[in-house]
Amino acid sequence: MNKPIIKENVIMEYHTEARSTDAQSYPVPSDIPKSYLRDDIEGMPDLSEPEVVRHFTRLSYMNHSLDSGMYPLGSCTMKYNPKLMEKAANYDGFSLLHPLVPGHLTQGIVKLLYNTEQYLKTVTGMDAFSLQLAAGAHGELAGMLMAAKYHKVNRTNKHTIIIPDTAHGTNPASAAMAGFKILNIPSGSHGMIEADMLRPYINDDIAGIMLTVPNTLGIFESQIVEIAKLIHDAGGLVYIDGANFNALLGKARYGDMGADIVHLNLHKTFATPHGSGGPGAGVIGVASRLREFLPVPVVAKKGSDFVLEYSVKNTIGRMIGFYGNIGIIVRAYTYMRMLGIEGAKEVSAFATLNANYIRAMLKDVYNLPYSTQTLHEVVFNDAYQNQNGVKTIDIAKRLMDFGFHPPTIYFPLIVHGAIMIEPTETESKDEIDRFIDAMKTIAEECKTDPQVVLNAPHTTPVRRVDEVKAAREPRLVYTKPV
Ligand SMILES: *Cc1c(COP(=O)(O)O)cnc(C)c1O
Repeated sequence: MNKPIIKENVIMEYHTEARSTDAQSYPVPSDIPKSYLRDDIEGMPDLSEPEVVRHFTRLSYMNHSLDSGMYPLGSCTMKYNPKLMEKAANYDGFSLLHPLVPGHLTQGIVKLLYNTEQYLKTVTGMDAFSLQLAAGAHGELAGMLMAAKYHKVNRTNKHTIIIPDTAHGTNPASAAMAGFKILNIPSGSHGMIEADMLRPYINDDIAGIMLTVPNTLGIFESQIVEIAKLIHDAGGLVYIDGANFNALLGKARYGDMGADIVHLNLHKTFATPHGSGGPGAGVIGVASRLREFLPVPVVAKKGSDFVLEYSVKNTIGRMIGFYGNIGIIVRAYTYMRMLGIEGAKEVSAFATLNANYIRAMLKDVYNLPYSTQTLHEVVFNDAYQNQNGVKTIDIAKRLMDFGFHPPTIYFPLIVHGAIMIEPTETESKDEIDRFIDAMKTIAEECKTDPQVVLNAPHTTPVRRVDEVKAAREPRLVYTKPV
C-alpha cells in the first residue's frame, strides 16, 4: 500500500517502481522531437535522488580537502578558504555577469578590479598591475614576453635569463617559451644566491634574472638588493617569482627590493580553493618603465568612470579571453578587505611562526639539509630514515593514515628525498601538534616497524598504487560525450 507522506517518499516509491520495469518503458511526452532525445546509455543505473546524493557524498569522503584536514603541501600555500569569499563570488551580480555587457553596466566589477590593483600596488611596491593572467605560470609567461619586448624595443640584443637551481620548473619553461636562452646557476651552501657567486655569470647577453623570493627552500634571498643592482648595471631586468608572497605580506615589498616584474599567485596568498592546475589568478606587477608593455586590456579610471583600456603603447597583446578568472579576483579582494593591512601582517607572521614551530619540533627526528633560517615553509629529507630502508615516498604515504595530506615531496630538486612542509597560517596549534605527533610516530616506526611504513597507506580507500606502471603504461580512457 503506497502511503506517500512526505515528498521524498513519493520520489523513492516512484523510483522503486520504475526500476523494476524496462527503462524503455518510461513515458516520453510525444510532442518532444526525437532529435532532442538522448539515446539510452548502456549500463546506466536507474537510481533515486537519495541514492545519488549518498553515492556522491560517499565519494567526496574518499578525497582529502582543506575542509577535512591540514594540507601542508609545500610551495602550494593550501590555506583554508573562508566561506565568505565563496558567498561574495556567488553574488548574482558577479557570477551571472556576461563578459560582453557594456561598460556603463559593469562599473561595479571594473571598480573591484581597480581597487584590487590599488591594494596590490600598496603591498608589493610595484607601479602597475595586470590581473588577467590565469595562473602563476601564465603570469610568468606574460612577464617574460614583456621582458622580451622590452629588450626588443630598446634594441639591447640580450637573450639569456639566469635562473637558479631552486626555481619552480615553470620558470625556465616560461623564459624559454618567450624565446630566451636559460642559464641555470647553482645556489650557495646557504641555499640562496650570493652576489659574489653571480658576478662571474654576468655578461652582455644577460637579459635578466628570475628569482623566487623567498625561494622554494623557504629561504629569503637576503642579497636580493645587491643582486638586483648587479643585473640592472648590466642592463638586465629583475623578475621576481612572488608565488611565496605569503611569507612577506605586509612585511616586505618586491618593489623596494628592485623588482622590475613580479607575479603573485592570488590563489595561494589570497586564499582560493585550487589544485590540479586551476583555477587561478597569476597577477603581474611592474615597475613604471615596463607599464607600456602590459597585456591588454588594462583597468583605468577616467574621471569617475572605471574603464578597460586597449591603447597601451608597446603591449604584448591579449593573454586570455575577456578578463581572466574574475571569480578568483573577487575572492581575493574579499580576502584582502576581510583582513585589512593589520590582518595581512598576521598572515605572514603566523605562516612563518607555524613553519618554524614544525621545524623546531621535528629537527631532531628528520634531517634538515640547510640550516639557514627559513620563513613560511621548511624542507627536510629522508636521510635518517634511509638507514632503515624507508624513503620519502613511504613517509608521505604513511601520513595519510593519520588523516593528513602529504607534504610536497622530491622538490626542490636540489634536496635529495625532499619533504617540503608548508602549514600556512590557518592551522591551529592543536592541528599542527597532531601533525608533529604523526611525523614523530612515523619516524619511530621507521626504526621499530619499518614494514608498516613501507606498506602504507592502510586506511585510505585507495592503497599504494603502482606509480611506475601508471607513468609507463597510462591507460587513457575515452568516454563518448552524451
Ligand atoms: C605555484 C608556483 C608557481 C606556479 O604557479 P601556478 O599557479 O601553479 O601556475 C610558480 N612558482 C612557484 C615558486 C610556485 O610555488
